[in-house]
Amino acid sequence: MKRAPCLHEGVLRKTYDEHSDLFMRNKEVIMVKAVVGANWGDEGKGKITDTLAEKADIVVRFQGGANAGHTIVNNYGKFALHTLPSGVFYGHTTSIIGNGVALNIPILVDEIKSITDRDVPKPKILVSDRCQIVMPYHILFDQYEEERLGGKSFGSTKSGIAPFYSDKYAKIGLQVSELFDEDVLKEKLERVCETKNVLLEHLYHKPALDAEELFATMQQYREMIAPYVCDVSSYLEQAIKDGKTVLLEGQLGTLKDPDHGIYPMVTSSSTLAAYGAIGAGIPPYEIKQIITVCKAYSSAVGAGAFVSEIFGDEADELRRRGGDGGEFGATTGRPRRMGWFDCVASKYGCRLQGTTDVAFTVLDVLGYLDEIPVCVGYEVDGQVTTDFPVTCKLQKAKPVLKNLPGWKCEIRGIKKYEELPENCRKYVEFIEEQIGYPITMVSNGPGREDIIYRESPLNK
Ligand code: GDP
Repeated sequence: MKRAPCLHEGVLRKTYDEHSDLFMRNKEVIMVKAVVGANWGDEGKGKITDTLAEKADIVVRFQGGANAGHTIVNNYGKFALHTLPSGVFYGHTTSIIGNGVALNIPILVDEIKSITDRDVPKPKILVSDRCQIVMPYHILFDQYEEERLGGKSFGSTKSGIAPFYSDKYAKIGLQVSELFDEDVLKEKLERVCETKNVLLEHLYHKPALDAEELFATMQQYREMIAPYVCDVSSYLEQAIKDGKTVLLEGQLGTLKDPDHGIYPMVTSSSTLAAYGAIGAGIPPYEIKQIITVCKAYSSAVGAGAFVSEIFGDEADELRRRGGDGGEFGATTGRPRRMGWFDCVASKYGCRLQGTTDVAFTVLDVLGYLDEIPVCVGYEVDGQVTTDFPVTCKLQKAKPVLKNLPGWKCEIRGIKKYEELPENCRKYVEFIEEQIGYPITMVSNGPGREDIIYRESPLNK
């Protein structure tokens, strides 16, 4: 079938001399690529985006809010980003907050200040005029609902994300553009207060909202956001025509997707690369490369089934050694749940993303183990499967583990795949075979330069 012509067809293409396989395939320059997670989030997407952003013109956040974070280590220091795209540290990139994001304006403004206060040059930031705003009452409703649910809560970070997306789809959300139309804004706020106040009074028994007060807050938000507002989809259309390289940066991972994840223990916006087109406002066929980030072991935050989870001293040791300075939430500081690499979940996670490349991260951390267990199947009702089940079956799944020999040494600093210890390469290759997607990048440290590019036999 003939595919629709791309906007950039016929324009002069850039070429890259280094790592060209990651930027070109079949002699076509890949201009729009997505960096997304295969699992429960915290796979190291921030680091991979930061590394790839060196050769990108634009980095776009397309979903989620300030409820999760990326940790980035670079020459300016160590940063936890919650809303800003991971390209903000380069002078040459434009950082975009797409329409799909839950925009918390004061948090965005604070985050910009927090990086410029540490000598990072002021980044060029654009915010979609169609982006919707996390309202102060979304945060309150998140807290009130968690209180009401008590022990049956969904483990929300209480940043207002679920109430925000509920309102967006209930069509009572506020777009950034509406901040600039006072009549529309006033009328909408009055209407919202009417419905919210019924719930506040009768369900939560909390103080009512005041439309006038909210209007004053929105005027402050308007001043804060005005310098960044842009018609992002038109901007990106032109950028693609001009041959610019665009990275779409996802938050969390496949297993937190509301449709394909471990519902209801999921996030409220799609974490899939496919949603990148919607949340940025570009044609889906422009996304030519989907880099799915998988961590060399598993971690998860919040409640929900986690089949390869480990506990006790074994988990404590991996948590302490994991990531860069331990596996604790970048936004919440919560200790992450730990587990062995899960081939079943990762194969599924990669499939739903539409993976063209796997970036395999945090491999260096496993160097302390004599043997490394890997989850190669799930046993559900006495049957072993390698297909990721729906949530009600997942609760019953037990891991089928296989032990692989460890390599017992430090691998940070190694630049060539062939120079990794044999058992380390065997670990990578075993996992690649199990998940069935090409591992073309191996990350062996938190820094930008800690990256090994690899030719995968699956691409031959
Ligand atoms: P994200 O949300 O997917 O960006 O992931 P997080 O930032 O929450 O978690 C990844 C953690 O691992 C961060 O602390 C990173 O600095 C760190 N990290 C990323 N890649 C590597 C790696 O290859 N090795 C080590 N040791 N740490 C890494």
